[in-house]
Amino acid sequence: MNFEFNEEEKAFAESFRNFCKKEIEPNSVDYEEQGEIPRAQFRKLADAGFTGLLHEEEYGGSNASYSQAMIAQEILAETCGSTFFSVGASAGLFGLPIKEFGTIEQKKKYLPDIIAGNKIGSLGVTEPDAGSDVGAMKTKVQTKNGKLTLNGQKTYITNAPICDYSLVLANYFAEDGKDLGLTCFIVDMKLKGVTQGKPMKKMGLKGSPTGEIFFSDVEISPANILGRVGRGFNIIMDAFNRERLSLGAYSVGVMAACLSESRRFSRSRKTFGRPIYKHQSVAFMLADMLVKYEASRNVLYETAWMMDKYSEKKEDGTKHSHNGYPVDLTAKTATLKLLASTLAREVCNLAVQLHGGAGYMEEYKVARLYRDIKIAEIGGGTSEIQKQIIAHSEAKRIKG
Ligand SMILES: Cc1cc2nc3c(=O)[nH]c(=O)nc-3n(C[C@H](O)[C@H](O)[C@H](O)COP(=O)(O)OP(=O)(O)OC[C@H]3O[C@@H](n4cnc5c(N)ncnc54)[C@H](O)[C@@H]3O)c2cc1C
Repeated sequence: MNFEFNEEEKAFAESFRNFCKKEIEPNSVDYEEQGEIPRAQFRKLADAGFTGLLHEEEYGGSNASYSQAMIAQEILAETCGSTFFSVGASAGLFGLPIKEFGTIEQKKKYLPDIIAGNKIGSLGVTEPDAGSDVGAMKTKVQTKNGKLTLNGQKTYITNAPICDYSLVLANYFAEDGKDLGLTCFIVDMKLKGVTQGKPMKKMGLKGSPTGEIFFSDVEISPANILGRVGRGFNIIMDAFNRERLSLGAYSVGVMAACLSESRRFSRSRKTFGRPIYKHQSVAFMLADMLVKYEASRNVLYETAWMMDKYSEKKEDGTKHSHNGYPVDLTAKTATLKLLASTLAREVCNLAVQLHGGAGYMEEYKVARLYRDIKIAEIGGGTSEIQKQIIAHSEAKRIKG
């Protein structure tokens, strides 16, 4: 076992941290006020190597491991939650399913611009009546006279107001009305009949625009079907595994930021004649924060390591085994997200409390961290859904 990053990872972490400090941290308050991340920032993150980490070299990526990608994601989350979400939705939620399931033509057409930050992507799954219950979605693609027509509505979509493309999950029906099952479609926002809603007002992540997308008789080319017809649900579940890993990194990064802000504040703030960290209850807050951060961080890198080792399907169709049990990456990423998001919310609460009245003021970063962390318990499947996934996996283990 080795818990140390290698030299290449350390060098990358250092240069990416410097980049974030210089190019993102000073702008994070402006992004909140502007309600979006400027396109130039997508391009800068591309130049810094962030957007291409998990992508293939021929499309502008660097084929990095999940472990290395998590190092960068943790640092970005520590710096700016809104940037993390908007850039992650584009290169990750939109880009990675294309990497995993796209044809060569689709990869050539979409990935280079997404990785370079020239275009912005989104993932359109959630609908007004279908969030946790993905199967209840109403958006549909109907075939008529050989043409595919998309109708429906998506909501709460990260980047919806600013994206160029969305990967849309929809019910797909054949010419004769036969239900072909949930299928993924790559949809260009410039197509006739697509309307992008205004940014919704949110409690946090104010620099990452979230909104609706409406589809009214949008003509889709069959070339824009991603993966196999009827396999859209599996493609999205695969994407959710990566999203949950990322939300683990996000939670860990937010906890790291809470710790550094709290250390700094507890050194400078004095009450009753001494710095507050010398009061035992404040010191215990710091201890609790550290324990929650370290526990989550270890599970994050263990999960990333498992993704690196076991993501490739075995040729004979059997499951990989790890410590004597079949590998279940869905349960593993659900465990990480449930643990890290819960603990991160608790850590943010402690950080604000430690700051006293200052923690309630926007001028202090912990106020933003507190607002920005709640999404980790909701996005990519709520905590209740993560528990269901873990319980389901546990039941299989008990049954044997
Ligand atoms: C800022 C933000 C960004 C987002 N970005 C995206 C995006 O880019 N793309 C996208 O597709 N979606 C996105 N979402 C949507 C998000 O994934 C959903 O909000 C989430 O999955 C929950 O769905 P819902 O809102 O419909 O809640 P519901 O499913 O209505 O859940 C309501 C409550 O009931 C609980 N619940 C529901 N079913 C069960 C059950 N079977 N057992 C126990 N409890 C249950 C839930 O846990 C929750 O507490 C985003 C949401 C937000 C807030």
